[in-house]
Amino acid sequence: MKDEGRRGDGEMGRRGDGETRGRGDSETGRRGDGETQPGEADDPSHSHFNSAAASTVSASPPPRISPSPSLRHHPSKRLGQNFLNDSRTIDRIIQALRPRSDETIIEIGPGRGALTAQLVEHAGALVAIEFDRNLIPGLLERFGSSRNFKLVQSDALITDFCSEIKPASHARLVANLPYNISTAILQRLIEQRSCLTEMVLMLQREVVERITAPAGSTDRGYLSVVVEAHCETEKLFDVAPGAFRPIPKVWSSVIRLKVRPSPAVTVKDYALLWQVVSAGFAQRRKTILNNLRSAPPGLQELVKLHGGASIVLCQAEVDLRRRAETLTLEEWARITQAIE
Ligand code: SAM
Repeated sequence: MKDEGRRGDGEMGRRGDGETRGRGDSETGRRGDGETQPGEADDPSHSHFNSAAASTVSASPPPRISPSPSLRHHPSKRLGQNFLNDSRTIDRIIQALRPRSDETIIEIGPGRGALTAQLVEHAGALVAIEFDRNLIPGLLERFGSSRNFKLVQSDALITDFCSEIKPASHARLVANLPYNISTAILQRLIEQRSCLTEMVLMLQREVVERITAPAGSTDRGYLSVVVEAHCETEKLFDVAPGAFRPIPKVWSSVIRLKVRPSPAVTVKDYALLWQVVSAGFAQRRKTILNNLRSAPPGLQELVKLHGGASIVLCQAEVDLRRRAETLTLEEWARITQAIE
């Protein structure tokens, strides 16, 4: 696992861009050891329910169950498998979440069950989404008899969370995310925000710094603006590499994201807002004026239609010489409103 480092901008729509903890290469295709890769379009989700809750749903032969599957499982770098191995950190995450008996909790990547054990104990219902089929037998062995436990073998990048939590209409979510695809998963979660109220996420510390970076910070990027629009953020605490096995090379942080009932700014066309933000951050050293002038063709046309980049920025009351990282969410919205 390597430090994710600073990413380019407009990154959120791209899966795994610049994220280097664990898997850093293609996310499709199969590994030599038979491990399916996240994002395979033809990989159906398999839900494993305990027999008391529902019949087992499986679109392919069930995973082979061995006496101690979790002991035989080797952590996969490609799946970002750095398992929590520190009870104090596990307790802090659970205390931050405080799962209640009247709610549904989603856990992405239960792994060997470090967080799952307490979640099953306290939550009304737990929907655990694990991609690695080699971990399924161990999870079923430990938690399969709990009436409130549902295990879905699926790629969180394509999972329909709102369907999986039914009959509940809303859930909170917790995850020690595979860092190499954490921003892509975050984007997926934001897309699915209609059924998510809050998320407690362990991420690489640099990613948390980017997410929470205010206007004016050099860490601010596309991700910061998108998350700010949809969530209230609160960094909770840092976690040292020694809390995981295998030990990663980077520090982690836990962050709380409270999903806003509606976006923090109002524009007619949110897709256009994200295009503007993405274009604005395209080259960090350039001014917002120059980045807008060299925006992708569709956006450039729209800007020209409204008098050109300088006029648009003047209308939005944004100084032409500023750089994207200095702009507030409200200013991004004003630029968008000027070309809508
Ligand atoms: N929650 C466990 C813990 O804290 O010890 C495991 C965390 S480990 C950093 C990330 C987990 O996410 C692994 O179990 C991994 O197999 C799983 N995972 C990786 N990619 C995934 C994906 N696309 N969808 C769902 N789970 C995934």
